[in-house]
Amino acid sequence: MEANGFYSGATLAIHGGAGRIVRGRMPGARDAELRAVLARVLGEGRARLEAGVRALDVVQHAVEALEDDPLFNAGRGSALTSDGGVEMDAALMDGEAGAAGAVACVRAVRNPIALARRVLDDGRHVLLVGEGAQRFARECGVTGADDAWLITDERRAELASARAAGRVSLDRDEPGALGTVGAVARDARGRLAAATSTGGMTNQLPGRVGDSAILGAGTWADDATCAISATGHGEAFLRVAFAHEVDAALRLGGLTLRAACEHALARVAARGGEGGCIALGARGTPLAAFNTQGMVRGWVTPSSSPAVALYADEP
Ligand code: ASP
Repeated sequence: MEANGFYSGATLAIHGGAGRIVRGRMPGARDAELRAVLARVLGEGRARLEAGVRALDVVQHAVEALEDDPLFNAGRGSALTSDGGVEMDAALMDGEAGAAGAVACVRAVRNPIALARRVLDDGRHVLLVGEGAQRFARECGVTGADDAWLITDERRAELASARAAGRVSLDRDEPGALGTVGAVARDARGRLAAATSTGGMTNQLPGRVGDSAILGAGTWADDATCAISATGHGEAFLRVAFAHEVDAALRLGGLTLRAACEHALARVAARGGEGGCIALGARGTPLAAFNTQGMVRGWVTPSSSPAVALYADEP
């Protein structure tokens, strides 16, 4: 992904987390599995963009597909809290209207991003959490999921080792481990949208909320500036209002999209955080920026094949 083009047509970019994604150190067939899933999701997104589907719907569908795949730390396969439960955060934002929906600390929902979309469409509120969000999910008829669906053996093993080591860990502290997901899109009419979904951090306290569900931290879209989906140490991204910092650097500082993302990431690093983002501007091709060893990422346009990358040395 590069920021120096001036392509202003429809585009979708997705990510599956940034972290210790190191060539030759991925377990088993994970490298190939990740590339295959990203290519499939991008292919489906391209078909939607070609059909004229609006950016908000395109990012929602992409994130739902990634939530359903246990390879990622969102929906099925979410990281586990210190009490062994699943608490998921998700948000999406429509850059045209500035409308947004978010949910945090939700259990027993198959696709938290679909619930966030219901919050956006309902329009009364922007962020619902915990039991209230779950009640709203039931009222809306959003598909539920039990722990047998959401919790995987790999996540149980990660919680056991995090407990034994007495640490709260990012999903990607181990080489090749599984990441938070996100998507940014621009549709044929130039509308931008962003969506992010996560299970948070392994062994996090129940009730902890990271940056993903917080607008202006992990998720942001404004047609005039950019669409952003971030991933990494949520506390650091929250403390620098990461996504809004990118927006402000574009809007007020006149930086390029890449310079704006790198500026905001430097602030994350100064707070001791690691991670990255995918970003898309009102014009130009999408980009990924990260201060980790790798980031699971890909992008597509109606006229290009899906491009997928995992390591820092890939374009
Ligand atoms: N940012 C997410 C959080 O802090 C975690 C991640 O991106 O992996 O909840």
